[in-house]
Amino acid sequence: MNRRELIKFFSVAQVGGVLLNGIALPSTYGAPYSPSATKRDLIKELGLRTFINAAGTYTAMTASLMHDEVIEAIKSSSKHFVMYNEVQDKVGEKIAAICHAEAAMVTSGCWSALVLGTAAALTGMDKQKIALLPNVQSFDKNEVVVQKAHYHDYFHALTNTGIIPVQVETPEETEKAINSKTALMFFLNESAPMGKIQCEEWLMLAKKYQVPTMIDIAADIPPVHNLWKYTDMGFDLVCISGGKAIRGPQSAGMLLGRKDLIAAARLSAPPNGNNIGRGMKVNKEEILGMYAALERYVKQDHDKEWKQWEAQIALIQRAVEEIKGVNALVSVPPIANHTPTLSISWDADLVKISRRELQQKLRNGNPSIEVVGKNGNAIQLTVFMLQPGEEKILARRLREEFSRAVV
Ligand SMILES: *Cc1c(COP(=O)(O)O)cnc(C)c1O
Repeated sequence: MNRRELIKFFSVAQVGGVLLNGIALPSTYGAPYSPSATKRDLIKELGLRTFINAAGTYTAMTASLMHDEVIEAIKSSSKHFVMYNEVQDKVGEKIAAICHAEAAMVTSGCWSALVLGTAAALTGMDKQKIALLPNVQSFDKNEVVVQKAHYHDYFHALTNTGIIPVQVETPEETEKAINSKTALMFFLNESAPMGKIQCEEWLMLAKKYQVPTMIDIAADIPPVHNLWKYTDMGFDLVCISGGKAIRGPQSAGMLLGRKDLIAAARLSAPPNGNNIGRGMKVNKEEILGMYAALERYVKQDHDKEWKQWEAQIALIQRAVEEIKGVNALVSVPPIANHTPTLSISWDADLVKISRRELQQKLRNGNPSIEVVGKNGNAIQLTVFMLQPGEEKILARRLREEFSRAVV
């Protein structure tokens, strides 16, 4: 085929699916992109299961849905070239102002914020040190002090930089553990209730020995004021997920903190190379999307939203409690995923269905529904990731399945 024949071939190919060298092509192959004409739905085309998310902001479930303002920021910025560092500069200033921080940067999720924040504490602006990470044996400071209860899976982000974790439990142990090799003191906010030292005391100890501090508050928004609570309190670095309740792009996060540390963290991140963070890229669309999401989030009416969540939870609670043997209890986790949560449990003698069976039936039903099931005859659900009206579907589907299981 020559060029002209090929063009002709493709213009015909737009009408129906065709075979090119034995490869099936979609009917839109070769057609110029035109959103209104094509309206391709890749989720349908690829046969991906969509579902009502009554579980929460789980990474495996793609966490959250972006609001129109965020999509608009992504779409409009995708048509232009800009300098990467300028986007980070400008967005960083805006985020810092919102979060009462000296400086800020958009990272590739909270996880990268943890890596880059640790890197900053280790290297400062020293390019030789930046290039050495994760080989930090020769550094005068390469230890991170952490409470045993805070030494969790996500700590892997810190160990990625090569640091040596030093685990402590009490204030006395902490004071003994801090020495000339201490680069950072780390606090995992969601583990605060399990630790012996709370964040104020942790900060006091760090200030006493002039050690920088970093806190992971990834999923601890809402409440909205947590966005500035820990910077106000005096943490040098604060790490937050952008794609959880703030509903920014799933792959975005934020690192807030001291100006010198954010400047150092940026040297370990794109567009710079020969560093530990070169692979932790966030594109300009996501950086701007993160800002649009944060701005929208702080402006929204949080009291109104909370009341709406309570009403949605109450509706589901009433629906399932009508069934004999089913109990539904509302609670709010104090830290992390701080949102009304419904725990539904049932008496196995009256309602014959296992947790796994119920989850399968909800998952395989129409529409598909995801809830959390950890142990026993119980499931947990939240409503903060629901689309308007989905609470009614949830209530109906739960009542249906429980009613069928009644003996
Ligand atoms: C979700 C989470 C992370 C990772 O955040 P991403 O934004 O997914 O990178 C880190 N720490 C805690 C406590 C989290 O809940």
